[in-house]
Amino acid sequence: MTRVNLVRSSAAALAVALLVATGGACHAATQPAAPSASSAPSPAERGTSTRVLAISIDGLNVNAIRQLGHDEAPSFYRLLDEGASTLNARTEYEQTVTLPNHTGMLTGRRIDRRKGGHGVTWDDDRPGTTVQKAAGHAVASVFTRVHQSGGSTALFSTKTKFSLYARSWPQAIDRFTVDENQQALVRKARQDLVDTTREFTFLHVSLPDRAGHASGFMSPAYVDAVKRTDHLIGTVLRTIDEHAALSDDLVVVLTADHGGKGVSHSDRTKLYNYRVPFLVWGPGVTADDLYDLNPDYVDPHKLRPTYAGPQPVRNGDVANVATDLLGLAKVPGSELDAAQDLTWN
Ligand SMILES: [Zn+2]
Ligand SMILES: [Zn+2]
Repeated sequence: MTRVNLVRSSAAALAVALLVATGGACHAATQPAAPSASSAPSPAERGTSTRVLAISIDGLNVNAIRQLGHDEAPSFYRLLDEGASTLNARTEYEQTVTLPNHTGMLTGRRIDRRKGGHGVTWDDDRPGTTVQKAAGHAVASVFTRVHQSGGSTALFSTKTKFSLYARSWPQAIDRFTVDENQQALVRKARQDLVDTTREFTFLHVSLPDRAGHASGFMSPAYVDAVKRTDHLIGTVLRTIDEHAALSDDLVVVLTADHGGKGVSHSDRTKLYNYRVPFLVWGPGVTADDLYDLNPDYVDPHKLRPTYAGPQPVRNGDVANVATDLLGLAKVPGSELDAAQDLTWN
């Protein structure tokens, strides 16, 4: 708690210093601000006014984005082109399925509990389970960290099995909404972004995964689902564009839990399963390749690196990219981007 307060205080002090330095330009979320200039302080430097929207697209094979191209996936390409991005990030090493990877995104941990991981190895809806029971001890999440610092959080998901997280961090998730209707879910999330100033929102959509299991990953029906998902993302971007409080302060972090090809995505040794996109987009973010911006992170090309040695960008970096953007200390017990050294500018 002391540590959090210290971080918050120094962030506030920095924000004051920056206000003086920039002649008092106001970045408060509740007030319309001038369009951000290139000299504007980075979101991390601005401290408490920054908000984060993490988006996970369930079962997104990056080849579908490439196949659709700029014309048919304009929103993905806008994020890739304007953001700090890569189409060659990695999932967790141990598994390429939904709950284990989302738990990694939320905790910044690997999966294997014997090595400090979160221990969530199942992927179905199991009432009564929690991440803490899986790990055998207390496990914090990005929700915990944000909530401890006085921030508000929300989790929007299309799958009921995400109730695992509501059970695991009941105090720290201020709003938990499940709606299997994708459009309705995204609409609710967009409305919440406008209506409520939350520091951290996690949005999970799964049209591609559903189409993949029904018709085959990378089938025409699947690629069409990715195209429809692009359209949904486009509605989110439009909401951000139309509200200065969002376009000035909201940073989007987008990734996927796994890819997929053919009937499944569970073979963790296949490139098409373990390769995912990762991008950061919004005020203060430099449009560049994430690996070019981060020489300490190593582009794995087609390989599947373990957690030893130089790391690729991983979907589990979401947790600490979020804490870093918000000017908070890392998620306690986290391993991925625990130094908060993954940069987007
Ligand atoms: Zn999944
Ligand atoms: Zn799936």
